[in-house]
Amino acid sequence: MDLKGKVALITGASRGIGKGIAKMLAEEGAKVVVNYASNHQAAEETVAEIKEIGGEAIAIQADISQEQQVKSLVQVILDKWERIDILVNNAGITRDGLLLRIKETDWDTVLDINLKGTFLCSKAVLKPMMRQRFGRIINITSVVGIAGNAGQTNYSAAKAGIIGFTKSLAKEVASRGITVNAIAPGYIATDMTAGLSEKVIKDLEQQIPAGRVGEPEDIAVLAAFLVSPAASYLTGQIIAVDGGLT
Ligand code: NAP
Repeated sequence: MDLKGKVALITGASRGIGKGIAKMLAEEGAKVVVNYASNHQAAEETVAEIKEIGGEAIAIQADISQEQQVKSLVQVILDKWERIDILVNNAGITRDGLLLRIKETDWDTVLDINLKGTFLCSKAVLKPMMRQRFGRIINITSVVGIAGNAGQTNYSAAKAGIIGFTKSLAKEVASRGITVNAIAPGYIATDMTAGLSEKVIKDLEQQIPAGRVGEPEDIAVLAAFLVSPAASYLTGQIIAVDGGLT
């Protein structure tokens, strides 16, 4: 996947899946922006690891649920590299609980970061991508946005919203050389799933036909293909990477 000369913004790239994607896109030659919310040290570690493998990267803090912060994030990238070719809307959070226990703030925060953040970042990069007549947007949804999950009504509503958003935006911008796809990970070993007990993980592994939970790299290889020039005719798709779970 030759990504030389391409500039990629990956939201929530200080840890987990975003970090895996940032490293792989850098390995393929892209200049990478490692966005993060508050974990400065982890973001700088990601940048250092990318530089170690000969890649180019910078870390930029911004809360992607805040429009002004998103606008400045994109402006900093344009001032530095004069283009933006790839956006991976990866940043996400969970605030799990059965519906009767979910507070309004838990609902709003999950929708704001997962869904509204995807809207704000996509909107902010669209004009430069249209000018370039090239763009690649990947949204990270989840298998629970497709299948649902008890205890995650807020999160699965946000992730299902991302699926509708992806399909609609893909139709709006296909004629401009911009593709919009979504990846729906199954269970991936990151901080987000680190709280699961050993028993839950064992049970999960039994349900996953591949017999193991996924790693960030399992998602990153698909992201690298979707953003490559080779994937220009692939848009509006939701691709599950879940070891066969769904
Ligand atoms: P993670 O390890 O918890 O990392 C979350 C990342 O998002 C961090 O880099 C964090 O930054 C960043 N972030 C959180 N809120 C943000 C905000 N308001 N603005 C900017 N960045 C923010 O999560 P993960 O497991 O890698 O998940 C990545 C994506 O995959 C999420 O969208 C998640 O819903 C989705 N997903 C994950 C799984 C899974 O099994 N892990 C399955 C399906 C889908 P800081 O480091 O600064 O906090």
